Amino acid sequence: MALLKCDICGGSLTMEMDGEAATCDVCGMKHTKERLLIKLDETGAVKNDKKTDSLF
Ligand SMILES: [Zn+2]
Repeated sequence: MALLKCDICGGSLTMEMDGEAATCDVCGMKHTKERLLIKLDETGAVKNDKKTDSLF
């Protein structure tokens, strides 16, 4: 699983139980799965759909 980081404070994110979102341990910001995937795509961390699926 890729390391998920908050793009606001840089804190580590903890996935919600339903896997649809992640909450920052530091600032409490909630990041939706959709938002995280867009962010990963922008950074080039995700090369294809199979890798995207494996993250969650
Ligand atoms: Zn944060």
